[in-house]
Amino acid sequence: MEMNSANVEAVVKQVLESMLDKKIPSQSAPAASQAIPKTAHVAMLTSLGHYDIKEFPIPEVGDGDILVKVEGCGICGTDAHEFKKDPFGLIPVALGHEGTGEIVKMGKNVKVDSAGKPLKVGDKVVTCMIFKDDPEIEMFDLNKKNVGGADVYGLLPDDDIHLNGWFSDYIFIREGSSVFNVSDLDLDSRILIEPCAVLVHAVERAKTTGILRFNSRVVVQGCGPIGLICIAVLRTLGVENIVAVDGNPQRLEFAKKMGADKSVNFMEYKGIEALSGAVKDAFGGHLADFAFQCTGSPAAHSNIYKFIRNGGGLCELGFFINGGDATINPHFDLCSKEINLVGSWVYTLRDYATTFDFLKRAQAIGLPMKELITHRFPLEEINEAHETNLAQKGLKIAIVNK
Ligand SMILES: [Zn+2]
Repeated sequence: MEMNSANVEAVVKQVLESMLDKKIPSQSAPAASQAIPKTAHVAMLTSLGHYDIKEFPIPEVGDGDILVKVEGCGICGTDAHEFKKDPFGLIPVALGHEGTGEIVKMGKNVKVDSAGKPLKVGDKVVTCMIFKDDPEIEMFDLNKKNVGGADVYGLLPDDDIHLNGWFSDYIFIREGSSVFNVSDLDLDSRILIEPCAVLVHAVERAKTTGILRFNSRVVVQGCGPIGLICIAVLRTLGVENIVAVDGNPQRLEFAKKMGADKSVNFMEYKGIEALSGAVKDAFGGHLADFAFQCTGSPAAHSNIYKFIRNGGGLCELGFFINGGDATINPHFDLCSKEINLVGSWVYTLRDYATTFDFLKRAQAIGLPMKELITHRFPLEEINEAHETNLAQKGLKIAIVNK
């Protein structure tokens, strides 16, 4: 058909008429809100080692609130600690902070996300910290304040709203929370945002030493999800001369897939001299310029100095919680080697936003990020999911809703 201006007009008219016939809902999307149930299901940790799926009414969405239908949420090391020991004294608690989902309803005052990107019903979002009780923090100041110590959905005390964690089918995001529109990332990537932000932050901390460069020799010790993502972040920065250290052959295999050049299995070496010799050999006779310590083992902290050259750097990020004391020899390990040491913990809002770009870059250069999610469980099987996580049978375990 020849498309002159007259029949373009006719086609447009036809399309518009067919739309009117079907009474396509207006922007307020009554169709979506009609689909919202009256109650939500929340996995509450009600005692040590046990979740109950509880049903709560979905509260009225206020002018600054957002109701999100949860699609999935990763299980974090922090959740494992809560599940086992409740170190934060939160029970009963709605856990799950590595979650993502779709906005199904939002108040009239909600227009943009924490980075200034427009928000609408249907957008996919993640949350970061909650600003309530801290008027010092501005929504748009992404550089300010590490999230550690701030309130986070999935680690809040229970209240009369109850829909406070991402291990649920709906979560209620209150005014004053940081929310990011991540509709341009797929579900697996969105589930990985929170742990990836930890590594984006650690690498930013490492960069402050001025040692980490394009051609640096880098050791990553510990190849759980944190160490593996560390390798991925380094790869997206162009760092390729990476040696992974772990005691598990499967994890070391994955580290190589993620882009580590060489791997060293510490189980194969007796004593720190032999082990540091193996690391040196892996770098062709050199010690590392920089090392990332990604395990929660104090002995691993003590050992890692032996892998680093004089004047090199170390980023310690393995101790999210108190894991006990580590012994070093300050003369040999720190002073005489002039080691540049940085600690890293959690992330800032800026790192969170940077992580969205990291995930796109990782995908673009073909890193197998999605393979980090080794197990997916429905919400009803959250106890099994945690048991699988504790048994260290996989890497990242996720709850994925239908
Ligand atoms: Zn986490």
